[in-house]
Amino acid sequence: MDLFYKSTRDSKVRATASQAILQGLSEDGGLFVPEAVPALPVSLKELADMSYQETAYTVMSCFLTDFTEEELKDCIAKAYDGKFDLPEIAPLTKAEGAYYLELFHGATIAFKDMALSILPHLMTVSARKNQVKEEIVILTATSGDTGKAALAGFADVPRTRIIVFYPKDGVSPIQEKQMVTQKGDNTFVAGIRGNFDDAQSGVKAIFGDAAFKEELSGKGFRFSSANSINIGRLVPQIVYYVYAYAKLFADGEIEENERINVAVPTGNFGNILAAYYAKQMGLPIGKLICASNDNKVLYDFFRTGCYDRNREFLLTSSPSMDILISSNLERLIYQIADQNDETDRRLMKELAESGRYEITSAMEEKLGDFWGGYGSQEEAAAAIRSVYEAVGYVMDTHTAVASCVYGKYRKETGDNTKTVIASTASPYKFTRSVMEALGKNAEGMDDFELADALAELSGVPVPKAVEGIRSAKVLHNTVVNAEEMKQAVKEFLG
Ligand SMILES: *Cc1c(COP(=O)(O)O)cnc(C)c1O
Repeated sequence: MDLFYKSTRDSKVRATASQAILQGLSEDGGLFVPEAVPALPVSLKELADMSYQETAYTVMSCFLTDFTEEELKDCIAKAYDGKFDLPEIAPLTKAEGAYYLELFHGATIAFKDMALSILPHLMTVSARKNQVKEEIVILTATSGDTGKAALAGFADVPRTRIIVFYPKDGVSPIQEKQMVTQKGDNTFVAGIRGNFDDAQSGVKAIFGDAAFKEELSGKGFRFSSANSINIGRLVPQIVYYVYAYAKLFADGEIEENERINVAVPTGNFGNILAAYYAKQMGLPIGKLICASNDNKVLYDFFRTGCYDRNREFLLTSSPSMDILISSNLERLIYQIADQNDETDRRLMKELAESGRYEITSAMEEKLGDFWGGYGSQEEAAAAIRSVYEAVGYVMDTHTAVASCVYGKYRKETGDNTKTVIASTASPYKFTRSVMEALGKNAEGMDDFELADALAELSGVPVPKAVEGIRSAKVLHNTVVNAEEMKQAVKEFLG
């Protein structure tokens, strides 16, 4: 049966999976959501024997129904290959009473690789299927990790260009170096003077600019998005929750159909939304523990039913979560509004105009799958240190937020259900914060020297992704004001 996607802001809009992937965002500004979440088509016993690639096919084929088996299997084979440093792709490590699902074994050592290594292939097939004549321009705002993962995925892909905007002072030195050293004639990277929300709003404004779109179309270009608003990012992220569950079962860690909880360090609400979809597919997930850093707009939302971005934007040691406008939350809002596009439209208009909205108590009652918590920078650092001291496992600053929020969850609820913590980045991406958390004096050392010191301390070798940029040449040095993003796009496209 074919699955279609509709817009959260206009239920009459209907798109196939490949059309939704090409468009990124619906024309009305809404996000594409599946008309119904499909059920897992195989038993747990069957899943337990599957490789990552086989699991990916099983899950993704339920959502991308207009892809042929051959097309989808080809995309999967090209994405989940030797770019990952382990054949399991997403291994689980048990430490201190939780299972860390390591999603950082891809080319750019953050979980964005899980989806962005396949998105270019999905996009290319989608363009072919829909007879797209124009060159596809991927326009992306990044809080640090999406940018590099998208660049790595799209560099030198024929008939595509990729443009990335990142907050100049809002990413780690390793993250920045990864991006500005990116090769490929079709790549463009610019820092903006502003924060991630400014970058994301600028990108959304360009997407919504009909006149600009027309102008570019005349020159043979069309925009698409590699941000987690694209269902081509969301669907591949469902896979690793199913895979993790099946592996826990295969390894005898859980009983058949035993419920597990999932804790996710959250920013744009993409990763945890994928876990929510996995649950709706029938995966036995209990609570979805949504972990925020000091930018705790989601924590407040889950506690009060009021989403309010009117607050100071804080730069923290988990920069990829420094976000006050969590775009993917709109998909959940739509769901708890009983898929009422009018309600969604009204709330999103309030958010755009006043920076806040409140949901009804009937909607609030449908949030029972979620538990919101937050961890301060200090609490996250303490989590890194205590897990290291207890078992020698070093996690990154984002994973640490989820780890400490998970601790709070257990304490507050007494719920000891086995829990998977989404481990979203390698500690090598945030070496300074990690080394400081471990109590090491990092003063006077650059991030690469710190990486060497971390290798010595953790016994985990410095990843290729960091070695590769150690002495790489800076190829991008554009910095613009947030208002100049459109101009920068024009210049790059000639
Ligand atoms: C992007 C990112 C997050 C946040 O994920 P969302 O899907 O935006 O909620 C968390 N940790 C790391 C390391 C990231 O790169």
